[in-house]
Amino acid sequence: MPGITLSNITKSFGDTVVLRGVDLSFAAGEFISLVGPSGCGKTTLLRIIAGLETCDLGTVVIDDADVTAKRAADRDIAFVFQNYALYPHLTVEQNMAVPLFMRRMNALERTGFIGRLMPGSRPKRAAIKAEVKAAADLLSIGHLLDRRPSQLSGGQRQRVALGRAIVRHPRAFLMDEPLSNLDAALRADMRRELVDLHRRVGVTTIYVTHDQAEAMTMSDRVAVMLGGVVQQFATPKAIYEQPANVEVAAFIGSPRINLIAVKADSRGSILWGGTRLIGEPSAAMTLGLRPEHLGVKPDGAASMVRHVEFLGPDVLVHAETVENGNALIVRFAPEAWSAFESHERLLLGPIGPVLLFDAQGRRVPSAASGRMSEPAVRAVG
Ligand code: ATP
Repeated sequence: MPGITLSNITKSFGDTVVLRGVDLSFAAGEFISLVGPSGCGKTTLLRIIAGLETCDLGTVVIDDADVTAKRAADRDIAFVFQNYALYPHLTVEQNMAVPLFMRRMNALERTGFIGRLMPGSRPKRAAIKAEVKAAADLLSIGHLLDRRPSQLSGGQRQRVALGRAIVRHPRAFLMDEPLSNLDAALRADMRRELVDLHRRVGVTTIYVTHDQAEAMTMSDRVAVMLGGVVQQFATPKAIYEQPANVEVAAFIGSPRINLIAVKADSRGSILWGGTRLIGEPSAAMTLGLRPEHLGVKPDGAASMVRHVEFLGPDVLVHAETVENGNALIVRFAPEAWSAFESHERLLLGPIGPVLLFDAQGRRVPSAASGRMSEPAVRAVG
C-alpha cells in the first residue's frame, strides 16, 4: 500500500526512553501532524522516518518497501528544518538546484567552468533551470532567484527551503517546526500557503509542531504524542470532540478544557451543574467541558467570577465554583456576556456535550440527561 507505515518504533538515548513502540500508518498524499509538548519525541520520530536516526526496535515501511536499514539519501524523502539550512554563498536559484545537480550530474559536470563545457551538461543545466523556475513560481519567489539568503526575509528563506524540497519530487515531505522562526502574522500566511501547496503538489507530508492550533488547522489527521506514546491519531475534529483521554483533552484546545472531579453514586449517577450523567457506579470520575460548552443555567453550579478577558469575538470568563473552588473558563459571545457582565456570581453548567473520563483518565461514553441545552442567559446577583 502506498504511504508510510511505522510499526513498534522504539528508541532510547542512554537511559532515557524517548519512543515506546509507536505504530502509525499514513496514506499516500495525507497531511499529517505530529503534535505534543516539548520533549515528547516528535523530532526523534521524524528523524527515524527520514533515516537520520536509527531506531532500537521497529520498522519503517515507505510505499511497501521496508527502508528501516536504508540510509537517508536512499529513502527519497525531503526534510525541511526550522533553520532553513540554506547555503549562504549560493543564490536562491543555486540553492534550489543543489539536489538536482547532485542527482543528475557527475562531479565533473558540476564544476563551474569545465562543467559547462562538458558534452551533455548544457541540456541538463537548462532542464534544471526550468524546473527550479517552475518551483520558484509555485512558491511566489520566481523574482528572487538571483538573491542570496542574506538578502531575503525569514518567510522568503523558508520558501526557498521548501522549493529545494519540491524540486526533488520526493515521496514525502518531513517538516520539523518549519514556521517557528517566523512572526505570528507571517506564520499564519505560511500555514495557508503550505496547505495550498500540499493540495497542489499532493505529496505525503508529515509536519512536526508543538503548536496545536497549527496542527489542527493544517492537517488531515493529527497524531497527539505524549511521553513517547501516540495517545490518539485521528482527524482534528475527532480529537477535539472525542479525545481518547484526559491528557489529549487537556493538550488540545485553547483555552484549555474544564476538568471537574466528580464521584458517581452507587447507581453510576453523576449530577453537576444541572446535568445528570451516567458513569460507573461509585467511581471517581472527571467531567470534561470545553469553554464554549459551559454557560449560565438556572440550576447551574454557583460560581464566582474572578477575571474577564475581552478577546473581540469572544469573552472569556474565569470563574471558580463556590462549593469546591473548581476553576472554570467559560467562552461567551460578547452579546451574551453583556447581559450579565455586572454580576460577580453566575450559575454555570453544561450547555453542550460533556466528556466523561474514568479513574484512569480514559474517555468513556457519557449519557447525559436533564436540561443540557438550556438557552437561558441569567445571572444571580
Ligand atoms: P521539541 O518540541 O522540544 O523539539 P520533541 O518532542 O521534538 O521536542 P525530541 O527532540 O524528539 O522531542 O526529544 C525527545 C527526548 O529525547 C528529549 O528528552 C531529548 O532531550 C532527548 N534526545 C533527543 N535527541 C537526543 C540525543 N541525540 N541524545 C540524547 N538525548 C536526546
